[in-house]
Amino acid sequence: MKIQFDIIGYIQNLPIELVSIENPKPDKNTKNILVTAGVHGNERPGPPASEMLVDFFRNTIDTSYFNVNIYIIPCVNPTGWTLNQRRNFQDIDINRDMDQFKAKESNIIRKIMKLRKYDLHLDCHSFGGISNFLVISANYKSDEFGKGVMSIFGYSYPIKKKDFKKKKKYKRMSEGVFRTTNNGTLKGFTSKLGVPYCFRIEAPRKLSLLDQIQETFELLLLFIQNL
Ligand SMILES: [Zn+2]
Repeated sequence: MKIQFDIIGYIQNLPIELVSIENPKPDKNTKNILVTAGVHGNERPGPPASEMLVDFFRNTIDTSYFNVNIYIIPCVNPTGWTLNQRRNFQDIDINRDMDQFKAKESNIIRKIMKLRKYDLHLDCHSFGGISNFLVISANYKSDEFGKGVMSIFGYSYPIKKKDFKKKKKYKRMSEGVFRTTNNGTLKGFTSKLGVPYCFRIEAPRKLSLLDQIQETFELLLLFIQNL
């Protein structure tokens, strides 16, 4: 795979990076995948897990069975990441700004989102109120795809049905797959652009950070393999 690193913008002198992992011989079946992480700066597993994807494709000798191009933005919110806080330095939640575009970060990632047709968008987060991994789906098509992937993931990592039972705004679609009604999210925007499969991945903060990172990576890879 061909790997390229680019800086697509700066926030307070901190770079937002884009890593492009491309099939050197693409054809009409080559799938485009977008991975975003670190939009909430205090949700720590996403950026290192997305970097593990880069390492995976750099170090795996035979990746010919992956007919994909993967575009990774490992840290959408570098000021939030540095401050270890959810919002950016201007107190804007970028994952609620993708319908207003007040933040510079939102405008930078919008450009990448509109650059090409993606087949899958995965946005990495973590959450305190859960004990197992789950995904938040953006649309009906994603519900079905997510159901399949989470059932495979469930063989290695248990997915409890009870998660999110008390939270009304999270609607359970199938085991490990939920929906929300939040506006201005990254996956909501890519879904509006016509990306058929859009997910937020939620790692449970009850796990050690290393486990959150490792399992987020496994789940990212599982989605990519099953596309
Ligand atoms: Zn989050």
